[in-house]
Amino acid sequence: MKEAGATKQRPLLEVNALKKHFPLQGGLLGRTTGYVYAVDGVTFTVDRGETLSIVGESGCGKSTVGKAILRLTEPTGGEVFLDGRRIDNIPLSQFRPLRRRMQMVFQDPFSSLSPCMRVRDILAEPIVNFGLAGSKSELDDRIALLMDRVRLPRDAISRRPHEFSGGQRQRLCIARALAPGADLIICDEAVSALDVSVKAQIINLMSELQDELGLALLFISHDLAIVEHLTHRVAVMYLGKVVEIANRRTLFAASKHPYTRALLSAVPVPDPAAKRERVILRGEVPSPINPPSGCRFHTRCPYVFERCRAEEPQLRSMGDGHMAACHLEEAPEPACAGSAQT
Ligand code: SF4
Repeated sequence: MKEAGATKQRPLLEVNALKKHFPLQGGLLGRTTGYVYAVDGVTFTVDRGETLSIVGESGCGKSTVGKAILRLTEPTGGEVFLDGRRIDNIPLSQFRPLRRRMQMVFQDPFSSLSPCMRVRDILAEPIVNFGLAGSKSELDDRIALLMDRVRLPRDAISRRPHEFSGGQRQRLCIARALAPGADLIICDEAVSALDVSVKAQIINLMSELQDELGLALLFISHDLAIVEHLTHRVAVMYLGKVVEIANRRTLFAASKHPYTRALLSAVPVPDPAAKRERVILRGEVPSPINPPSGCRFHTRCPYVFERCRAEEPQLRSMGDGHMAACHLEEAPEPACAGSAQT
């Protein structure tokens, strides 16, 4: 994995205060009775050739962030820029051609590939739709190159998805994402359903493709262990908000937010002699319909104190791009700090 962002230019993707609130309808008249605050003011950037991972428990809104960027669900608020151009508020007719540059790979490769289509047609579809091949031979060359890129045999193009293993199907999904020449790929739990050894192969493939093509990756996962070997930076989400963001080394070695530390404590350490204290979080993630006041993590935080219940902590810079949203970082000696559950 190459280090990203050596020369500073405007990021490929900029997400500013992104919101997605799903209305709840009720009663005979179908009036809006409330909202699911799935994504509630999320800000981050992704550079060319960089991997940013968004991690958090299920229900934290991380997948909705990916879908809102691609407008698979329309954002409620905030701004999204691709290569400096605002894309969240332009008409869909202008947005669709830009989808060529932003593609998504989903968790379940089987349900995201049409079982009736042969591989050749699956890969040809985006190339033809975006008018990227001038002739049949050019189309064939592009398809052959895609098969090479994802390390699948060229002669497999006449097969259908059910004739492949789970890992091979995910390679097909990656090839389809690359087909229109995407420079940003959003991977939504793309390896979660795979066996451990296949997971590693797909992660290695993504890394190699990133180096070869300069791809930007937004890697959405519930599992910090998965992203450790792939990512340049990590954004940790809790209940619709980013609570910490840092480069990989800093996050794994010196995280600041109690929620990040709890997630990290569940990551297996390769050295059996090295002990990591396991932090067990109490309870479930609260409902995004009625998020807790103040710090949204306060109902589960082992260090909660008075101020946490009343005042929402803002993301604050810890230096070197590291940001965390926790009152402990502003008041190192809180009056009522509890002790961590281990
Ligand atoms: Fe815990 Fe308070 Fe920090 Fe929230 S602000 S993470 S409740 S210590």
